[in-house]
Amino acid sequence: MKFRNFKMVDYVVYGRGCFNQLDEILAPRRKDDAPVIFLLDHYFQNDGALKARIPVRGNDLLIDADVSHEPKTSQVDELSQQIKDKFGKVSGVIGIGGGSTMDLAKAVSIMMNNPGKAQDYQGWDLVKNPAVYKAGIPTLSGTGAEVSRTTVLTGPTRKLGMNSDFTPFDQIVLDPALTKDAPANQRFYTGMDCFIHCVESLKGTFINEFSRSYGEKAQDLCEQVFLHENEWTEESDEKLMMASYAGGMSIAYSQVGVAHAISYGLGYLLGTKHGIGNCIVFNHLQDYYPKGVATFHKMVEKNNIFIPEGITKGLTDEQFDTMINVSMGMVPLWENALGKDWKTIMTYDKLRRLYEKF
Ligand code: NAD
Ligand code: ZN
Repeated sequence: MKFRNFKMVDYVVYGRGCFNQLDEILAPRRKDDAPVIFLLDHYFQNDGALKARIPVRGNDLLIDADVSHEPKTSQVDELSQQIKDKFGKVSGVIGIGGGSTMDLAKAVSIMMNNPGKAQDYQGWDLVKNPAVYKAGIPTLSGTGAEVSRTTVLTGPTRKLGMNSDFTPFDQIVLDPALTKDAPANQRFYTGMDCFIHCVESLKGTFINEFSRSYGEKAQDLCEQVFLHENEWTEESDEKLMMASYAGGMSIAYSQVGVAHAISYGLGYLLGTKHGIGNCIVFNHLQDYYPKGVATFHKMVEKNNIFIPEGITKGLTDEQFDTMINVSMGMVPLWENALGKDWKTIMTYDKLRRLYEKF
C-alpha cells in the first residue's frame, strides 16, 4: 500500500474582512519591479468599492477575468502569453472570484514557468516546473478549488485538470464577506458542489478517517445553511466558506464519484457549468446515493431552486457517445464510487439511460 503524500496550501488567512490584509501579505512576495497580476472575476468589473480595496501597486495589472464559460486551455495560453509579452517575469498571480477564476489563476501561474501549451499538462503530475507565486481568494463557496491540487480546464480533446504538486495555491484568503451578494441560485449550485463532494467522498470506496472527518463536518455545515436555518445570515456565509474548505480537504484524500463523472460529460459536450451540472445529475442518482439525494431534494424545495430538466433531449447518438466516453474516462471517480469492478456495474447502456434522464 502506497500512501499519498499530498501538497497543501502553504498559508491560510480566514475571517470577515481579512481581504484588507492582502497588501501586507503580498509585500514580501514582490520581487524588484515584477508586477503582481490580479485576475478579478468579471462579476465585479463594475464594483468600484471592491476594486479600490485591491492593492494594485506600481506596474501591477488588474485583469477582468471572463468566466462566462468555464476556463479553457486556450484562454490560459492567451492570458499567460499576454502577461509574458508585457512583463516577462511577474511576482505572482492572484485569483479573486469563483472556482473558475481561481482555476484560471492557478493555471496561468503554472504556464508562466512551463513551456508549451496548457493542454500538455492536463492529467496527473505532468507539470515540470514550480509555478510563480499564486494566491486564491474565493467569492463563491463550494468548489474547494481554494484547497485542491487541480485546476479544471476544457481542452481541445478533453475536460481534465492539471493535477500536480505545483497546482495548490501558496496562499488563500478566506473572507466570508466577499460571498455576501451571491444570488440564491448561484450560491446553491456552488454550495451543492460541496455537498456532493461530501456525499461522494463519504460513500466512496476510497474513504478513510482523514476524509471522513472533513467530509462529515462539511456535509453538516451544508445541511445547516441549506436545510435547517430559515434565513441567510453572515454566519451562513461563514459556515459555507468553511464547508467548501473542509469538503475540498475531504476529496483531497479520497475522490469524487458518480455525479462528477457524469457531469463532466455534460460540461464537455454542452458547456453545462460544474455546479448546476452536478445538481442536474445528482437529482437523478437515488439508486447510487439514496440518503444524499433525498436530502438534496429537500434542500432544493426549501430554497425554491430551479434544477433544469430535459437538457439532453434530442441529442444524437454521436453526442451521447461523446459524453459517455468523457465520463467513462474518469476512471478513479468510478473506482471510488463503485469499486475496482465498476465496469461491470456501470455499463455503456446503463450510462446512456442515465444521460437520457437529464
Ligand atoms: P464560477 O466561478 O464558474 O462562477 C459562476 C458565476 O458566478 C460566474 O458568472 C461568476 O462571474 C459569478 N460570481 C462569482 N462570484 C460571485 C459573487 N460573489 N456573486 C455573484 N456572482 C458571482 O462558479 P463556481 O461554482 O465557484 O466554480 C465552478 C468552476 O470551478 C468550474 O470551472 C469548475 O470546473 C471549477 N472547479 C474546480 C475545482 C478544483 O478543485 N480546481 C473543483 C470544483 C470545481
Ligand atoms: Zn465538484
